[in-house]
Amino acid sequence: MTDPRTMTPRWPAPQLLIGGASVPPREGGRLQLTNPATGVRLPDAPAAGPADVEAAVRAAREAFDAGPWPRMNAAARGRLLRKLADALSERREEFALVESLNNGKTFREAVSGDVAPGAATLAYAAEWANKFLGEVVPVDGPFLTYVVREPVGVVAAIVPWNYPTSLACWKIGPALATGCTVVLKPSEVTPYTAMKLGELAREVGIPDGVLNVLPGEGEPAGEALARHPGVDKVAFTGSVGTARRLLHASADTNLKRLSLELGGKSPQIVCADADFAAAADACFWGIFGCKGEVCSAGSRVLVVAEAYEGFVARLAERARGLRVGDPLDPATEMGAQISARHLDTILGYIASGQAQGARLLAGGARDVEGTKAKGNFLQPTVFGEVRGGMRIAEEEIFGPVLACMRVADVAEAVRVANATRYGLGTSLWTRDVARGHALARQLKAGVVWINCFNEFDDAAPFGGVKESGWGRDLSHHALDNYLEMKTVWTKLPVP
Ligand code: NAD
Repeated sequence: MTDPRTMTPRWPAPQLLIGGASVPPREGGRLQLTNPATGVRLPDAPAAGPADVEAAVRAAREAFDAGPWPRMNAAARGRLLRKLADALSERREEFALVESLNNGKTFREAVSGDVAPGAATLAYAAEWANKFLGEVVPVDGPFLTYVVREPVGVVAAIVPWNYPTSLACWKIGPALATGCTVVLKPSEVTPYTAMKLGELAREVGIPDGVLNVLPGEGEPAGEALARHPGVDKVAFTGSVGTARRLLHASADTNLKRLSLELGGKSPQIVCADADFAAAADACFWGIFGCKGEVCSAGSRVLVVAEAYEGFVARLAERARGLRVGDPLDPATEMGAQISARHLDTILGYIASGQAQGARLLAGGARDVEGTKAKGNFLQPTVFGEVRGGMRIAEEEIFGPVLACMRVADVAEAVRVANATRYGLGTSLWTRDVARGHALARQLKAGVVWINCFNEFDDAAPFGGVKESGWGRDLSHHALDNYLEMKTVWTKLPVP
């Protein structure tokens, strides 16, 4: 991996991508952004307004209704998508540098946790372009009845700031593979890599209007997309609050379809017979990886009473030694939080934990050592003796704050694990794998990891239950989000 300090960032042109053309925002909107690690101003990005949304939806609509993309040979569509995947993979360090400067995650995390997996997701989706099959239905009577699977239409992909490249790819990969056209709206705080992805799509020859990129605020840009009658489906990753607005927008307009990947309060359950060294390592990186700004962060660790003291002390000690700092320094282990505002939210949660009687075992304050005073750095924080009812036990903090909870036994661990409104990921640490499988059935979560945590693969579906969302990203199941079924009946002549 190149030392990013020797690289020069290549920022995208400050334009929207609409119908294959690079255009300035019609109402002149601008996003003013700063590097979260240094406070230094980054190049302004354009902010789409309602007129831009109108134009982008029209372009995507035309490309879908009359353009070549949904009509072309599926293998050829797959090849074009594969070209996009390869181009992104080749330029992963270039993208990762921009991502790191914009998001505050380390360059290493940006390469290996965001951009490279994003390219892999596009490559995986490309393979599926000519492999989603229809079916022939054995109906009663003299009919030939078959089902074809057709693209849903114009997709608005609305994504957050924590994994800007890979989450965009989670949506546009299967959407483009199935023949949909897309308006991609990145988060207003991380617009650049989506804009670069739009430039790449033009370079590799994806037809005009198939991928439109509209950086902009949730309101007006996101809201206008969600309310637009020309959008057939919204593919969303973000917070529960925004998801509720999208549901209302859909209900109030054209009942557009929604897939929702939302937040979590994912528990890691440590049984008495766990491999404690492996479990501690996973619990540690499960919350401090990518500075805890991860939907499936293992933000609660539930440890059975007999193992609790030693296990939690080990985590706290390690947190005190974590190297927090310059995201571009290869020695750094944790970068800067996305914004000063988000840092304040996290500090508010830390204060609530202290006020509600949890024991602060590590961290708990801003990290203002040396040049870090200019950025949004936080000390990795570990709370012990966290109990149900505390805000830090139940609400998504989305930062490097670990809540350790003592449970009497595994039965209590399962009860506590299930006692939040979320249900994204859960992990179980036990040497008794059969028991692990039995417990997995009792856990209300979209993903259960046994003796591992936060493992992802393009072939494995990912998503949540309860308020963690609807539908699944990744895997061939993700294609279902972007496909409709059409049943065709033909009456056959009686021979
Ligand atoms: P957010 O909901 O504030 O924003 C997400 C996107 O929605 C952004 O592009 C934003 O501009 C847009 N948006 C905001 N208001 C809108 C509106 N009224 N109409 C349409 N679009 C609107 O979320 P965030 O703060 O960017 O991201 C953090 C959240 O995302 C956390 O809750 C996290 O858990 C979740 N997340 C989930 C997953 C997953 O796969 N389950 C992955 C990453 C992040």
